[in-house]
Amino acid sequence: MPDRRAVRHDPVPGRPSLRRPEPRVVVVGGGIAGLAAAVLLAERGARVVLCERQRHLGGRVGGWPTRLADGSSATMTRGFHAFFRQYYNLRRLLRRADPHGTALVGLPDYPLWHADGHRDGFAGLPAAVPWNALGFLARSPTFRWRDLRDVDSRAALPLLDVEVPRTYEELDGLDAARYLSLLRFPGPAHALALEVFSRSFFAHPARMSAAELVTMFHIYFLGSGEGLLFDVAADPFPHGLWEPLARYLGDLGVEVRRGTAVSAVERGGRRFVVHADEPIDADAVVLATDVGGLREVVGSSPDLGSAEWRADIAALETAPPFLVSRYWLDRPVAPDRPGFVGTSGYGPLDNVSVLDRYEHEARAWAARTGGAVVELHGYALPAGVDLRRELLDQLGVVFPETKAARVVDERHELRSDCPLFPPGGFARRPAVVTPEPFLVLAGDLVRIDLPVALMERAATTGFAAANALLARWGVRGTPLWTVPTRGRVPLLRAVARRWGRNPGLETP
Ligand SMILES: Cc1cc2nc3c(=O)[nH]c(=O)nc-3n(C[C@H](O)[C@H](O)[C@H](O)COP(=O)(O)OP(=O)(O)OC[C@H]3O[C@@H](n4cnc5c(N)ncnc54)[C@H](O)[C@@H]3O)c2cc1C
Repeated sequence: MPDRRAVRHDPVPGRPSLRRPEPRVVVVGGGIAGLAAAVLLAERGARVVLCERQRHLGGRVGGWPTRLADGSSATMTRGFHAFFRQYYNLRRLLRRADPHGTALVGLPDYPLWHADGHRDGFAGLPAAVPWNALGFLARSPTFRWRDLRDVDSRAALPLLDVEVPRTYEELDGLDAARYLSLLRFPGPAHALALEVFSRSFFAHPARMSAAELVTMFHIYFLGSGEGLLFDVAADPFPHGLWEPLARYLGDLGVEVRRGTAVSAVERGGRRFVVHADEPIDADAVVLATDVGGLREVVGSSPDLGSAEWRADIAALETAPPFLVSRYWLDRPVAPDRPGFVGTSGYGPLDNVSVLDRYEHEARAWAARTGGAVVELHGYALPAGVDLRRELLDQLGVVFPETKAARVVDERHELRSDCPLFPPGGFARRPAVVTPEPFLVLAGDLVRIDLPVALMERAATTGFAAANALLARWGVRGTPLWTVPTRGRVPLLRAVARRWGRNPGLETP
């Protein structure tokens, strides 16, 4: 059940479906954003061609088969993902191919462990705002009430009065590290309660916009009763999520071209010629790639859009490298280990997941061999340094029983394809609608003035991109859903207003 205060954003009114001859749309990128756009366009009758560079769908939530040293077949993926309960649009996408909602399963908590021994969690908190936050503070061993004296309450006010895009207009010039230091949260609380959000953007807080951080705090804490509890995929991503969705697309007549990279989009033909293995004529194009893909395609398409728009895309940056290490171990971890734990203060280690706790394939392997399948993530890493050993050593500190384990096999994914949201970048972040009529953008890098982030931003911009094209053809798109679009406790909002919106936070 979504939060009863979730907000519905209706599309422009129009006909229920496209008329003949139906337009042909090329969607570039088969991650969440491209899949969302392709699904909605095809449901309204468009002829859709989806081009994905990789052999697998799902983009950063993708996976592929691999054979382990013990001869078993397994699926390696781009890494653990938390599907939060307030990911309304993503869940509506997944439901198309999972009508009974069995593809995701809940984990009981989001535990956070700090190296100094403090442990926090979010299970069992009241759902109502602000009682959830007060409940967290009351029971957190990390946060003591007397620490509240030190918190700069005026600097904390923007947390209570979030509204997109106003929050960006006010705070985007400030970096998240500076904002965190202005808040004067006690050290461990600071790390656990707030840095965890900047970590999930793969960036160091000094290189990330404070507005992005504050918006995250709204989405996951003060703006939504669903809080920080989440579900995980019950099967490896390709089996549980994307292949069923690919079959759904196939039934709608979508042509999915895997292993097909788009190099450029030119004006001509029906309206555009999309250059891939062979040129494809299109009435409209959705560019739903990652940062690198968007820069490449737009950089090689000199007649598209405006000079300013092209410069904005050329200026997009990616966050630093991150490492996902998966280990198949010859013995189990202790029975009380959670399926996922966020970590702080353990060197470069940001989280540990124990896949055999929740994923069918890993569980079967562990049952057969008596072992465990463990995944380690390290974000915002220095470039050019191999931190695989450090991550594994830190696993031995977090779960000491793993020190004696033999590694049956291992896989590592070192990438840097997540978008960076640097301070001051919001105003120039490209939006769904572009200066080029009939060419739209989607993806987690794309600006949309709604409180959404990460996978949910990908799904929301994917549907929004399809809505924008459908509106041009006089066809009704789909409603978008979000958590409340402003701070949800009127009294706290009023206090924030009265004291001034961003006191002491004027950007340098
Ligand atoms: C390790 C890790 C953990 C994460 N954990 C979480 C989490 O717990 N919760 C959460 O909400 N989010 C999480 N994220 C973020 C999440 O993965 C992304 O926000 C989301 O998947 C982005 O989807 P997208 O469709 O915008 O982009 P992508 O998934 O990057 O899809 C873009 C697609 O475009 C394709 N492409 C690029 N260029 C071209 C081209 N020229 N031609 C054809 N195809 C092209 C790419 O191959 C790719 O498949 C995590 C990310 C990582 C890496």
